[in-house]
Amino acid sequence: MFLPSGVYGLFVDGQYIESVSGETFDVIDPSMGFAVAQVAKGGAEDIDRAVKAARSSFESGVWSRVSPKERASVLDNIAKKIMEYAEQMALLEVQSSGATIRRVMSSDIMLVVDLFLQMANFTRDFPHKEPLAAIPLPGPSHNFVIREPVGVCGAISPWNFPLILGCWKIAPGLAMGNSMVVKPASYTPLSTLLMGQICKEAGLPDGVLNIVPGPGSTAGETLASHPDVDKIAFTGSTVVGRRIMQLAAGTIKKVTLELGGKSPNIILEDADLDIAVPGSCFAFLLHNGQVCESGTRLLVPQKLHDEVVERMCHVIGRLKVGNPLDLETDLGPVISAQQLETVLSYIEAGKQDGAKLMVGGKRIRPEGFEEGYYVEPTVFTNVNNDMRIAKEEIFGPVLSVIPYKDLDDALRIANDTIYGLAGGVWTKDPKKGLEVARAIKAGTVWINDWHLLRNDAPFGGYKQSGIGRELGHFGLEEYTQVKHIHQSMVQDRQRRFWYDRIVTLKE
Ligand code: NAP
Ligand code: MG
Repeated sequence: MFLPSGVYGLFVDGQYIESVSGETFDVIDPSMGFAVAQVAKGGAEDIDRAVKAARSSFESGVWSRVSPKERASVLDNIAKKIMEYAEQMALLEVQSSGATIRRVMSSDIMLVVDLFLQMANFTRDFPHKEPLAAIPLPGPSHNFVIREPVGVCGAISPWNFPLILGCWKIAPGLAMGNSMVVKPASYTPLSTLLMGQICKEAGLPDGVLNIVPGPGSTAGETLASHPDVDKIAFTGSTVVGRRIMQLAAGTIKKVTLELGGKSPNIILEDADLDIAVPGSCFAFLLHNGQVCESGTRLLVPQKLHDEVVERMCHVIGRLKVGNPLDLETDLGPVISAQQLETVLSYIEAGKQDGAKLMVGGKRIRPEGFEEGYYVEPTVFTNVNNDMRIAKEEIFGPVLSVIPYKDLDDALRIANDTIYGLAGGVWTKDPKKGLEVARAIKAGTVWINDWHLLRNDAPFGGYKQSGIGRELGHFGLEEYTQVKHIHQSMVQDRQRRFWYDRIVTLKE
């Protein structure tokens, strides 16, 4: 991955290379607040070079035209290779994203390995060719639908789960035979860059996967608007998602967007609080709330309000915030100095709007990590759904507790948002749970749980949380073009009466 200068290179056409400009940028470890790596800074020309490499690999057929079985076996190899590189991968992920090593080693790496294995299996079983029923009129024909790769797919990924969310695009994109250009988030390009080497060692032909870190405003915009890119997949903020759609519109690219959320978490009166209380902490605190599907609005019946809040504050008070490389640590830093400021400014807005701060609210400087970007897990009560802390995605460890009167009231509040990524309900009554799950306008709903996603289940948003789905066979379909082929079986001109029905075609 390293160039002779010690800088991480761009991965283009199977090689790590310098950027055309020769410029680099720093990757900061958010737990310490200082630079731990330099990375070649990709710009418009580098994206162009990567798109050319992707296009030429695509047209050559080295990957796009090999059998699904062969592609699946390379995906299996990628999964094996990720296991081999697990420690290095985990370290890169922790150092750049501030994730805890505990989570990355026990969850993220496993999820990505499983993702490639699942995509391999899906690829083997995918309906690459589906016959349509024979119809006698106007004349007999064979009709079938085939799936083809889309072509060159661009992927722009975020910094919260760089490895997982990058691979949510890479794995299905490759599975379906596309060539790809990936632009990772500037805070966290390292683990994605390692995927280049891993895929090459696993047998992926050069040029099929290209990885170009660089600023969103140059590298990202060039990729999203590039005339030779056929599809763009994006995960990040709703604001940038809108921009991506505009840029992609120029050449009518296929677009999938995974955007923000402000997911409602509803505790019903009959909930088992021994599960719902820690579960609701898990829902808003995983990775410091820097998760698009975090349960950040907790809707509690008035009757249970005080008990739930008191018990949650007790759980939160015992959490260990600090060194992400310490296995005992529960919460690491937020991603950046800027994100820390954003979170603190939302906490200020909450106070000013009249919400009641129950726990947290301040920056922390853990011993030995004084310059890291740490913030206390924070709970507000007395929140009204119109307050900024209830309406806007904070992307920090901040919970808004909103009391409700009855179920209709809860559902009204739950759906009163521009977002629709996820939601959840806690109840002992399975029927009621299902009823609420159906009523929440969101792409994923948990009953008595949170955050558990599966690589075989679709993930994506209603409303302004996105377009399209990732994962599962729905996710794979997003990386295919659909072609209908009609093969006429009518050999005889006389029987082709439909030629003459509209115009008379005589020879
Ligand atoms: P962002 O700006 O949406 O960044 C996501 C990705 O888009 C990064 O790779 C970024 O590159 C790139 N990008 C930025 N501007 C672009 C443009 N004009 N054209 C093409 N690509 C562009 O997210 P952020 O600024 O890092 O975070 C802001 C907020 O977004 C967060 O506070 C959170 O609310 C939300 N967010 C949501 C998710 C999610 O999973 N839904 C993930 C991350 C953030 P650079 O890194 O070079 O800017
Ligand atoms: Mg941004």
